[in-house]
This record gives sequence, structure tokens and C-alpha cells, in this order.
Amino acid sequence: MQSSTVTINNQKPILALIIPCYNEQEVLPETANRLLLKLQNLINDNIISPNSKIVFVDDGSGDNTWSIINDQFINNPQNFDGIKLSGNRGHQNALLCGLMSMIKFADVTISMDADLQDDINAIDQMMVKYNQGCEIVYAVRSSRKRDSFFKKTSAQMFYRFMHFLGVKIIYNHADFRLMGKNALLSLTQYGEVNLFLRGIVPQLGFKTDIVYYERKERFAGKSKYPLQKMLKFALEGITSFSISPIRLITLLGTVIFLISLIMIIYFITQHIRGDTAAGWASIICSIWGIGGLILLSLGVMGEYIGKIYLETKKRPRYIVEKILSEETLK
Ligand code: UDP
Ligand code: MG
Repeated sequence: MQSSTVTINNQKPILALIIPCYNEQEVLPETANRLLLKLQNLINDNIISPNSKIVFVDDGSGDNTWSIINDQFINNPQNFDGIKLSGNRGHQNALLCGLMSMIKFADVTISMDADLQDDINAIDQMMVKYNQGCEIVYAVRSSRKRDSFFKKTSAQMFYRFMHFLGVKIIYNHADFRLMGKNALLSLTQYGEVNLFLRGIVPQLGFKTDIVYYERKERFAGKSKYPLQKMLKFALEGITSFSISPIRLITLLGTVIFLISLIMIIYFITQHIRGDTAAGWASIICSIWGIGGLILLSLGVMGEYIGKIYLETKKRPRYIVEKILSEETLK
């Protein structure tokens, strides 16, 4: 009886919602309830297969996140999966792990944050676009009214700078995104350790589209992206996708060298004219100026060399400790 229902509904795509979670005990029970309701509505409306799932990836949380995931799975193993990483690997790696774990099972995935900032009702529109043949659908914030002034301006500066450097990223899009099986399969060909999915996904190609949503405030708990992590993430994005900073240094070096040549010519003519004013200040200024630039340039070079170093090691991007899924129950 059950198998016949499954066969009929199997024509509908299997959707997997991928939710990376890091210390999200305050919000997770509510997130699980709301997502389950959404999933059931989509199943009842015959938009997705009843085998669709919500996949929580615990990114090495230190609180009760894993036990909450465990409870959800025990109550409803058909609709929940859990993956526990062996330690905190960061949002991007946790997300990648979730996507890769579903590559065989799901026809389409939607990734979103655990804190209910992303509007789950945008999922309906995303599925409409998917059914129209889109392989990738970006959910873009229609406004950032609820973000703090600092977060808003720093984020905007980041997008502008990335654009200036020639990196193709979608303005005001975080990682709330639909990806079909083909997009996921092509993502597997990107083996980089320094992961910045917002930069990689637009490079995949395929038919893509955008849906807009209003970004809400975090439902509960605190942001897991303090300033330090945000800066690291921005730097990752810039140096993983653009070598423009290195070129800028070369340009700067050339300009400074030309200026110093002009200065030398000027001082020699002054000397011939017998006009030798004590130039202590200018010398000190040049030494500090040039010294600073050299250090800055070394820093930028170091950043890239560090990247090469990490890439050549080919270390795993995440390590899975436990998996909760119907398969593991069998
Ligand atoms: N997250 C994660 N690993 C981390 C940091 C964050 O998996 O090391 C998850 C977090 O649980 C959330 C998502 O990434 O689901 C986005 O984090 P958050 O909402 O704290 O960032 P913000 O919205 O403040 O930028
Ligand atoms: Mg958030």
C-alpha cells in the first residue's frame, strides 16, 4: 500500500532542506517545527515528494544542539536527518557537507540558516522557479532594514569591493539558495579548501533566477558571526576569487618607484644649483612610507601564499562523526 503511494508521488522532486547549526539550542526546536510544517504543506500540495527531508548539520556545537537534532530525528525519522561534524568547521564547510550528503538522495536542495532570519515562505517561489527549469535560485534580501547600521554598511562595502575586483557575486544574497542535482554534481568538481560558496555557485552556470524576501531578525540566540569571523569571511571571499590585490601592489610599486626617480632627479638639480637644504624630514617620511608599503605588500603576498599552502595540503573540509538517517536505522 505504502509503496504504491511512494511510486505515484515519486514523480515529484525530492527536496532536502540543508540547515547548518552552530550552538543553536535556543532556536532549533522552533525552526524544526516551522520547517516541518512547511515541508508537509509542500508535500500535501503535491509540489515535492513525501520522501523530502530536513537535514540539520551540527557544526561542532558545544550546547544541546545535537540532542535536539537527535530528538527531532527519533520523533520523525522520515522527515529529519542529522549529521554531526567532529568539530567546528565553519558555516561554509557545514553547508557543503549537508549538500554533499544529499547529492544521491535529493533532486533539489535548499540551504538556509537555522535562526529563521530567512523567510521560509520564499521556498514556494523557489520551487516554482525550479519547476520552470532553473537549476539555481538565489534568495535575495529585498531590504536590510532590520540589520544594524554597522552590519548593513560593512556588508554593502564588501559587495561593492568584490564587484570592483571583478568577482561575480549576487548582491545581498547570503546562502539561502536552491540548487538542483546537476548544480550539486558540478559543485563536486570544485575541490578548494578555502571555501566561499557565494563566489563559486555563480561560476557553475546553468539557468538561474532570483526571488526576493524580507530578512527578519534572528528568532532567538546570538549571531554566530562576530566581527572577527565576518572579517575572516570577507578576506576569504576576496583572496579566493581575485588576484587584483596583487596586481594593485605591482601598480603601486611602479608608481612609487617612478616618483622616487623624479625625486632623485629633482634633488640632483637642486644640488648642482648649490641649494642643499637639510632634508631630514623628507627622508624620514620616505623611509616610513616605503617601509609601510613593503610590509603591506608582504602581507598581501603572504595571504595568497598561505592559501596555496592550505590548498596543496588537500586536507578534508569537514569530518563527519555521526549520521542520523533512515538508512542508518535499517
Ligand atoms: N553557523 C555554522 N558554523 C559556524 C557559524 C555559524 O554552522 O561556525 C551557522 C549558524 O548556526 C546559522 C548560520 O550559520 O545557521 C548563520 O549564522 P548566524 O545567523 O549566526 O550569522 P548572521 O546571520 O548573524 O550573519
Ligand atoms: Mg543569522
